[in-house]
Amino acid sequence: MSNLNIDSVKNRTFDAIVVGSGISGGWAAKELTGKGLHTLVLERGREVKHVVDYPTTMMQPWEFEHRNQIKKEVKDANPIVSKCYAFYEGTEQFFVKDAEHPYVQEKPFDWIRGYQTGGKSLLWARQTQRWSEYDFDGPARDGFAVDWPIRYADIAPWYSYVEKFAGISGNKDGLASLPDGEFLPPHEMNCVEKYFSQSVAKNYSDRHIIMGRAAHLTKPKQIHLDQGRATCQHRTICERGCPYGGYFSSNASTLPWAAKTGKMTLRPDSVVHSIIYDEKKGKATGVRVVDANTKEMIEYYARIIFVNAAALNTNLILLNSTSNRFQNGLGNDSGLLGKYVAFHNYRATINAEYEGYLDNATDGRRPNSPYIPRFRNVFKQETDFLRGYASGFSADRYSHDDRSGLGEDLKKGILNPKLNNVWSVGSHMMGETIPKESNFVALDKTLVDPWGIPQLKISVDYDDNDVKMTKDFFEQLTEMYTKAGFKNIRTNDSNRTPGLDIHEMGGVRMGKDPKTSLLNKWNALHSCKNVFVTDGASMTSTSTQNPSLTYMAFTARSVDYAVKEMKKGNL
Ligand SMILES: Cc1cc2nc3c(=O)[nH]c(=O)nc-3n(C[C@H](O)[C@H](O)[C@H](O)COP(=O)(O)OP(=O)(O)OC[C@H]3O[C@@H](n4cnc5c(N)ncnc54)[C@H](O)[C@@H]3O)c2cc1C
Ligand code: SF4
Repeated sequence: MSNLNIDSVKNRTFDAIVVGSGISGGWAAKELTGKGLHTLVLERGREVKHVVDYPTTMMQPWEFEHRNQIKKEVKDANPIVSKCYAFYEGTEQFFVKDAEHPYVQEKPFDWIRGYQTGGKSLLWARQTQRWSEYDFDGPARDGFAVDWPIRYADIAPWYSYVEKFAGISGNKDGLASLPDGEFLPPHEMNCVEKYFSQSVAKNYSDRHIIMGRAAHLTKPKQIHLDQGRATCQHRTICERGCPYGGYFSSNASTLPWAAKTGKMTLRPDSVVHSIIYDEKKGKATGVRVVDANTKEMIEYYARIIFVNAAALNTNLILLNSTSNRFQNGLGNDSGLLGKYVAFHNYRATINAEYEGYLDNATDGRRPNSPYIPRFRNVFKQETDFLRGYASGFSADRYSHDDRSGLGEDLKKGILNPKLNNVWSVGSHMMGETIPKESNFVALDKTLVDPWGIPQLKISVDYDDNDVKMTKDFFEQLTEMYTKAGFKNIRTNDSNRTPGLDIHEMGGVRMGKDPKTSLLNKWNALHSCKNVFVTDGASMTSTSTQNPSLTYMAFTARSVDYAVKEMKKGNL
């Protein structure tokens, strides 16, 4: 896929450039090449090829030198990434190590990154819920941030478009707060999950326990087989990379599809430094790249540029793209570039026990779990905080083995695990946070990274709204759990620092008015119309749902627009 023999201006000129090869960049590459554009995909990390570069994907627990645990030295040297639940011996090769890619925490922020072909698409948990009209209406209705320039109806057909290709499993639940999509067969709930779903349905008209919608091929269609992907085997070791392509990743899906067109040039180890702006032409003409290995600076040129470096890195690149015309960052006439960054509040969990269904047990594995769609402030404002939260839910009948004794007794204890005499149930909160000017990222004035690029300074924190929402989550979930007869209910506010939700958004927000936003309704910079941002940086507000499906849909919609405009000679 790569072509490193690029040494003349002509050979460094493409129809389109995509910065980043993760979830949104992979989609940009697929769509642009599919529409016939010669596209250069610049990826700062190393190349990771589907299947061959998943070294741990077939390893058994006993084959890991450290039994699949992170070594103490690695943990000590990487305190930030070590907090991520998905960082273990089998996956550490796909995560950025703290010290190798420094940034400045003006306030504590756990920035979890994946720098390689495919970005974080290899690592994600694959939850893919659509946003609803209530999410896109939110800022206008509740009076925070700015109004979205589009509504659910504008993006709905693009959700369908990306869902069909990516392969999303789920039920058609018919809920206004969580629109249905183009689903493959759903995963199943176990008996206690079904019981809780029934209990909630009996006690509440506005609350639902449904199966999560997830990017897994439960029953592949021809379009998935054509990508070389196969049925998900329920191994639940997805973040090591899946040789079956059972879940959606750029590596298994969009990038090979783009490569098949013969129109994609993928250049790994290419750290985009900034975007080149031509004042005479009044548009961007290309990008400056630092070769990750040689540190040589190289320029590449194109008529349109998609910046898909993941939310905070996209902010960094635009802030670092200065010129006479844009002295504070490309497209930054409003002075708001880097501001109104928001995230998801994942700090609260609740756990309990259930004494029913003791003649049943959980067995096997399922790469998904049930989901409680947002039920607070959906149709009207009804609490003392803005917006709301979704939650996960799962029930497990764990077993334990008796490790007392020695020799034969020990062997017997381990080989005959005993089921716990209760079920364990639990939920975690996924809260919307309100974008605020005071939550921002900026370039540090003195510190640079090993590639000579200013380090990103992150200044993001919770506010009173998040505290009130967390309290409400505990109260409401406790009530729902109590009504279901769950016992020994325990709530926990981990107070963990923002970032670990890995859903950072904003800084380059979309909006109607160039004075209060950076991007128009097609995700193009208001004042530099051939530069598009379709990753999390473009999000005006965050909703409660996981965001990546929405980035995919925005990217496909934006590419469609950009290519039509190019063909009309407008770009
Ligand atoms: C453990 C985990 C669980 C998650 N679970 C979910 C989930 O269930 N559902 C969900 O919706 N989301 C989930 N996410 C978040 C999801 O991974 C991201 O939202 C998604 O990957 C964002 O897509 P992206 O294209 O913006 O960024 P990425 O996928 O991160 O891709 C960005 C790419 O840009 C490259 N890049 C960065 N800077 C530069 C530069 N200067 N020059 C060139 N290239 C650059 C990076 O190396 C990377 O490859 C999870 C993430 C993690 C880590
Ligand atoms: S659960 Fe499915 S997607 Fe995940 S690794 Fe296994 S086969 Fe692949």
